[in-house]
Amino acid sequence: MSAAEREFEGKVALITGASRGIGRAVALRLARGGAKLALGYAANDAAANEAKALCEQAGAPRAELFKFDVADAAACAQAADDVLAAFGGLDVLVNNAGISIDGLILRYKPADLEKTLQTNLASAFHLSKAAARAMLRKGGAIVNVTSVVGEMGNAGQSAYAMAKAGLIGLTKSLARELGSRAIRVNAVSPGFVETDMTLELPEAAKSAMVANTALARVGTADEIAEAVAFLASGRASYITGEVLRVNGGLYM
Ligand code: NAP
Repeated sequence: MSAAEREFEGKVALITGASRGIGRAVALRLARGGAKLALGYAANDAAANEAKALCEQAGAPRAELFKFDVADAAACAQAADDVLAAFGGLDVLVNNAGISIDGLILRYKPADLEKTLQTNLASAFHLSKAAARAMLRKGGAIVNVTSVVGEMGNAGQSAYAMAKAGLIGLTKSLARELGSRAIRVNAVSPGFVETDMTLELPEAAKSAMVANTALARVGTADEIAEAVAFLASGRASYITGEVLRVNGGLYM
């Protein structure tokens, strides 16, 4: 394996939503890079254990599971403390965990809005706060996973779009606030990627999305993971406050 492929050797990365989908692909990509991994997830123990085993096979010197609800501020602070106690430091934070509760605004419940914002947006604030404290002396990288929906909007996804657009504001503000401490903060904005999250979408909605995508296909979790790994790595050492679109040309 080449040196470039082991670019995360000696680094500790916390990835939320690492049990499935894009988060799992990110974890595997960083595992191949030699990172020690703290894998966050909410409830799916079987998927989380499988992700951990795959990360170990892929070359992670260490992979530990951290089961906590990112929507809970206290749980985020506790998880960050637990990661620091277990690994002795934190170099990379990937705020990936997310949910979408879709619905037209006229019927949308306040509780669903609250849950969407807490899970997709406030979570990144809480964890970035804890991570920034841990990274103050040595620097580090934070990567937030936003969405094409946060950039272009989508009927029936106003709450999700609010959260994802908010993540972009958070990314740019933290980039300015933490840059002098060598903490880089960037976002990756995926287009339509086939994961459990998009499984239930009606076929018509999927084909409409593909029809509007320049590359005329959906994206893979690995393609998103590659962009996250780039922004988390030293190869992106002069990039901060950036939103890297990985959407096949769905939105430019
Ligand atoms: P997914 O397959 O549904 O996986 C979601 C992950 O987040 C799981 O690991 C889940 O853990 C975790 N999670 C959910 N709620 C959580 C909570 N409250 N606390 C802690 N962990 C929680 O989703 P995905 O498609 O990979 O999406 C990953 C990210 O990419 C999300 O932020 C999503 O908005 C964004 N994104 C996805 C697409 C797409 O087309 N798929 C497009 C643009 C952006 P459990 O396994 O324990 O449930």
